[in-house]
Amino acid sequence: MAEETINPLDVALHQLAMAAEMLNLDPGIHEILKYPKRVLIVAMPVRMDDGEIKVFTGYRVQHTDAMGPYKGGIRYHPKVDLDEVKALAMWMTWKCAVADIPYGGAKGGVCCDPREMSMGELERLTRRYTSMIIQLIGPYSDVPAPDVYTDAQTMAWLMDTYSQIKGYLVPEVVTGKPLHLGGSEGREEATARGVLFCVKEACKDLGIRFRGATVAIQGFGKVGWNAAKLFHEGGCKIIAVSDSNGGIYNPRAMNPLEVFEHKRKTGSVLECEGCKNVTNQELLELECDILIPAAMENQITKANAGNVKANVVAEAANGPTTPDGGKILHEKGIFVIPDILANSGGVTVSYFEWVQNLHREHWTKEEVNNKLKDIIIRAYRNVLGASKKYETDMRAAALMLGVGRVADAIRSLGLWP
Ligand code: NAD
Repeated sequence: MAEETINPLDVALHQLAMAAEMLNLDPGIHEILKYPKRVLIVAMPVRMDDGEIKVFTGYRVQHTDAMGPYKGGIRYHPKVDLDEVKALAMWMTWKCAVADIPYGGAKGGVCCDPREMSMGELERLTRRYTSMIIQLIGPYSDVPAPDVYTDAQTMAWLMDTYSQIKGYLVPEVVTGKPLHLGGSEGREEATARGVLFCVKEACKDLGIRFRGATVAIQGFGKVGWNAAKLFHEGGCKIIAVSDSNGGIYNPRAMNPLEVFEHKRKTGSVLECEGCKNVTNQELLELECDILIPAAMENQITKANAGNVKANVVAEAANGPTTPDGGKILHEKGIFVIPDILANSGGVTVSYFEWVQNLHREHWTKEEVNNKLKDIIIRAYRNVLGASKKYETDMRAAALMLGVGRVADAIRSLGLWP
């Protein structure tokens, strides 16, 4: 695969082919899994604040619902395209199967730059998008959630638009909502907390002391910021973080709360007191125990994987490592906790939120975090067990587990008609 032109869908299909071969999968089931079951592309006219009408392209891709209702976040980003959304939808399928939660995989995306848009413009865009994908989404059919550059407010607008059109309040149509609208305790931190549970297990297995371990994190959004906070609270040293503008480095460790405050005031993590500015590429190559990519796809490639010095790479982002990059990390003996395992805490607590909404219940934070811990540690142990059994790395093991479970479901459901 030529890495300069790497396309996340090619990566996802390559991973599926690898798992299919290792599992000796029925070629017909492999064929089914290559394609999303349904794709919707919408052109959304939105009136901008200056009166001009702009037309944005949006997508909702449903990969498979063999394991349960479709589930997947909505991404707002200037680089969103159909292939990226298809790849992310497929990864959602494997992720839910690895965590063993009863959901299928989906993803949504809108090609836009929310950093350049006002709140009013974002609200009108979100409501228009919701209305245009309304035939696909619903509490028993397809349940969206936040992803890059969308948040609890975006989900509140989605929930309200859906509810207004239906004529009654439907909190269970979406997860990642504000707490006061039926959001779950612990959802905001859930993805990062899942990463933390996985890394703690890995440290035990590899004989790395967790307390005092040095951590570099790419991305300082919902996942990256919460990871910095939780690893810092756990006694790790956060030596680097970054956002889309670049990163900061302090070999003696930084306090993520101070960095958060600095970013709130200045709009970026750069120039934070006591830290040296670094590029996003330099951050990935820093001397550290744990590297957490928590931003975008294709960050660790064959061009830089040889320079990664961490002992553990925990993929909080989806698809941060290309196949060639992953091969190099494996050859270097770096322990990679793959995305479909490492970041599955987010969808797991989204599932808890949906269950609470359907039952009109509200669980405590302790209850949520304990249930999350059980699921993530079981998933981690299952993947590690498969990696030992099949003598393969954690990514191949996780894919085999996820693809294998979905294939079993499709086989048992049979083909209709
Ligand atoms: P976010 O929008 O809250 O944060 C994204 C962060 O990445 C921001 O700090 C942004 O500045 C930074 N960024 C954007 N482009 C970058 C670039 N080119 N280089 C470096 N940094 C860049 O999004 P998020 O929800 O934190 O998602 C981050 C990653 O985690 C994504 O891959 C997403 O799919 C994945 N993920 C998120 C969740 C969740 O619950 N939010 C769950 C599972 C996986």
